[in-house]
Amino acid sequence: MNNVPLLVLELANSGKSKRPSGIREAYFSDPFENRETFLEFLKQLKHPNLNLNDSDSLTINLDEIKLLCETVEQIVFQLISKKEFSLNAITNLNESAKDCCWAHQLSQDGTYSDLFQSGTLAGIIASICVMELAKCDVTRIKTCNRIACGLYFYDTTRNRSARWHDENPCGWRTRSERRK
Ligand SMILES: [Zn+2]
Repeated sequence: MNNVPLLVLELANSGKSKRPSGIREAYFSDPFENRETFLEFLKQLKHPNLNLNDSDSLTINLDEIKLLCETVEQIVFQLISKKEFSLNAITNLNESAKDCCWAHQLSQDGTYSDLFQSGTLAGIIASICVMELAKCDVTRIKTCNRIACGLYFYDTTRNRSARWHDENPCGWRTRSERRK
């Protein structure tokens, strides 16, 4: 799961302010402003299962996707705080994931990849979230220790010791604030 952005966490973080390295103030840009901003938000993730070249033919219901994001945030929150999947949220996620049809496609290197054939964008997103939550090690999903940040992240360190969503900026900021 290394280096691949987890759509689950990107969605769960989508309602939070971000303050990347080199930026003075945290800012919030709402990916749900309109169809274009949301597609842009998805495209910059470069997610391997999310090919949006054909996005014109997709049914995109932003309100539905926004609800889905809230469900995903709820799942991640409960995973971290209660160490379990909540049945209600999972039922909602699974229901959304039904609106999507995948095809296994063989690649030249002998592996297969999943390509979506049809469905709504909400269905595709939900379906990817289902795969990710099932495949990833949920004990590695954490909240950034820097209170001002609070972003969810996936700890890829060997000994699961990461406390900040990214060493730079959050770990570095925490240490330089302590020194003051
Ligand atoms: Zn952070």
